[in-house]
Amino acid sequence: MQTLRRTRILATLGPATDAPGVLEDLLRAGVDCVRLNFSHGDPAEQIARAERVRAASAAIGRETGILADLPGPKIRVERFESGKVELSAGQRFDLLAEADAPLGNAGFVGVSYLGLPGDVVAGDVLLLDDGMVQLQVEAIEGQRIITRVLNNSVLSNKKGLNKQGGGLSLGAVTTRDRELIEVAAKIGVDFIAVSFCRNADDMEEARAIARSHGSQAALVSKIERAEAITNLKEIIAASDVVMVARGDLGVEIGDAALPGLQKRIIREALAQDRIVITATQMLQSMVDSPLPTRAEVLDVANAVIDGSDAVMLSQETAAGHWPVQAVAAMARICVGAEENLAADTDYETAKRGLDRADQAIAMAAMFLTEHIGVGAIVALTESGGTARFLSRFRSRVPIFAFSNHADSRRRMRLMRDVFPVAFDSTGMQPREAARVAIKHLFDEGALEVGERLVFTSGEAMEQLGATNTLRLLVVDEAGNAAGLGEISPD
Ligand code: PGA
Ligand code: MN
Repeated sequence: MQTLRRTRILATLGPATDAPGVLEDLLRAGVDCVRLNFSHGDPAEQIARAERVRAASAAIGRETGILADLPGPKIRVERFESGKVELSAGQRFDLLAEADAPLGNAGFVGVSYLGLPGDVVAGDVLLLDDGMVQLQVEAIEGQRIITRVLNNSVLSNKKGLNKQGGGLSLGAVTTRDRELIEVAAKIGVDFIAVSFCRNADDMEEARAIARSHGSQAALVSKIERAEAITNLKEIIAASDVVMVARGDLGVEIGDAALPGLQKRIIREALAQDRIVITATQMLQSMVDSPLPTRAEVLDVANAVIDGSDAVMLSQETAAGHWPVQAVAAMARICVGAEENLAADTDYETAKRGLDRADQAIAMAAMFLTEHIGVGAIVALTESGGTARFLSRFRSRVPIFAFSNHADSRRRMRLMRDVFPVAFDSTGMQPREAARVAIKHLFDEGALEVGERLVFTSGEAMEQLGATNTLRLLVVDEAGNAAGLGEISPD
């Protein structure tokens, strides 16, 4: 049986992937889901990219998830007369929070967020350009914030601004985000990511807007500000997917806190049966180099070991010189890391409560998988719900998730261990559906003769959330599924 990669790869699109042929190569190299970064470009550009993704997916015969990443309330400085300025440690530098601030110079620059003077006090440290420029607030005079520059640095147009320790009061879903959610709904994206969310309300607001435009996209919370850590559990509960957004998070809370937080966010997401993505600078050096550094190899592998469903590429694919190599490197590092993963037999976690039949079946399937040497799980899942619960346990076996709904299949593209398969079971009895599904996998080379399987389905087919049966099967000589009658130790 071929080695299947179990961790998913999310890759950001950008100028580097617009070049002819690159997108197809990127998907072939292993991208499961693409990210459209709505912070850059206009809606027409995003729509065109999504269309190209669908065409490339069709060309290679594999479905790709599409994630729309909203800009959120990222605060930015405005522009300078000469594009950028050099700042010296100890000099005064003002931020002018006015709608029509003049072009900046070495003495001041405009800021897009008019509420900033109300959110800072003397002594606060403001971090610009991901912390490359550090300013300490000395005084506030109306809309003018007087600061002292803490380090020799260069500040250029439109760089981001964070406050050390968090505490900026902006809501996460801006007017612009509302418009862009409508664009995302029109595109028919599978995931919508909410940047800088603070609490569950932010997530619910974004979800309600998406639903009002007819989008059934899964909602992704980006954990990237201090408030989100305070409200972590409720945010995760209000999300389908959680992203460890290490870029902005590291700026607000300090890089030294990141490793612990990455592990905590992943643990909490898995405990709540949510999907989790680890993101940002994973293979940063590959923007310019065809090979990752050893430290990057270890970072990706550790994110896999921590339990990430998916790992993300940002600049590496969007604007790097080696986008296809970056995906290939990520794929090979994931496979290498997965070889060393022990199955998670921590059934204590599973005892935390079973609220749904499909969740109970998933739990039982995983128990059997560990204890009687099952080689694969085959799940008929309309919505992907069973696949989600199955994939929350770390097994060593692939989960083949058969669904007749393309949107469900694409939403499963971020789930660790899950391999969605298109399957129309209309008019079939569950027994026949099992036979056809398993024969299909055998013919594809995904199953071997003698392999034991757990097969889960509903009693009645084509019903959402109706999984309530589990069967033990074995692949016979002809590649058909037979009932597993006897369990002898292998
Ligand atoms: P971004 O989000 O790339 O949209 O900033 C991820 C992060 O902050 O890590
Ligand atoms: Mn961010």
